[in-house]
Amino acid sequence: MSDRTEISELGEFELIHQLTKDVKTTQPSTVQGIGDDAAVIDRGDHYELVSTDLLVEGVHFDMSYTPLKHLGYKAISVNLSDIFAMNGTPTHVTVSLAISSRFPYEAVNELYDGIKAACERFGVDLVGGDTTSSITGMMISVTAIGRVAKEKLALRSGAKENDLICVSGDLGGAYIGLQILEREKMVWKDNPEIQPDLEGFDYVIERFLKPEARADVIEELGKLGITPTSMIDISDGLGSELLHIARQSQCGVRVYEEKIPLDASTITQCQEFKMEPSVCALSGGEDYELLFTIPQSDFEAASKSEFFSIIGHITDAASGSAIVYPQGEEIQIKAQGWKSI
Ligand SMILES: [Mg+2]
Repeated sequence: MSDRTEISELGEFELIHQLTKDVKTTQPSTVQGIGDDAAVIDRGDHYELVSTDLLVEGVHFDMSYTPLKHLGYKAISVNLSDIFAMNGTPTHVTVSLAISSRFPYEAVNELYDGIKAACERFGVDLVGGDTTSSITGMMISVTAIGRVAKEKLALRSGAKENDLICVSGDLGGAYIGLQILEREKMVWKDNPEIQPDLEGFDYVIERFLKPEARADVIEELGKLGITPTSMIDISDGLGSELLHIARQSQCGVRVYEEKIPLDASTITQCQEFKMEPSVCALSGGEDYELLFTIPQSDFEAASKSEFFSIIGHITDAASGSAIVYPQGEEIQIKAQGWKSI
């Protein structure tokens, strides 16, 4: 009798490790295979970047509060975020869709309006895909292709001791936006007469429903003449992404809790939910900001930028990975991953 291991026992990262640990690459053009935000393929004068993502109804999105146009936009934006996370520029996407008979043509058309709006916004061409039926729900898979000059490539594995840790924009908003949508969904379920009260929550709700991949941050880094030593985008939460950098660069991290960038409305709404804003930033996820490391020699150029904040530094591997609180207390960062499967 064969053993049965529940996938939920393994968790996302262990599952990927188990499935792919004996995958070998044989093509000389494969520079980076599984294990970064995108695959890196040597195309002679530049590197090609390829990334793919799957969004599943009920797991990644809830139709009761996700407008289809936003969903289409988000599906593209979060994929392009993985190309930016290599310090690259996206050029093409393919979109594959599984839809149940629950969705009429008009709904799918609306989804495509969002897909096309994102392609236009980021200047990428939609060049293919597949459409099929599904027994239940909707699934969207996007593959993004991009390019990067060889000397500009930023992997997760390049951070060096004493490098500065930077993060773009602000964090935790998407998570608290999701909490508000979930709360209103509960109210609405109990009493369909009551209209959702979303006034004043625009910023955090938009952070969740319609994240913007940070093309502008990559452009800013180029202007400042900064090439990150490592980079990753924030899909699972700051804590989890810091651990990816630490593990793949074989180093430790120290991030100062008070330096984690938070929007004023995120702080206010966290208070309402009795949550620590920095916990939302560390464990929440879906912010799609960029987390990267830069050499100390770039400190001056970096400190002038309004696009990102310096939140900590890289240490040796033996020091581990921790958040430093204002009184000096250090809390070890724990691995996150899927909240459910
Ligand atoms: Mg990523």
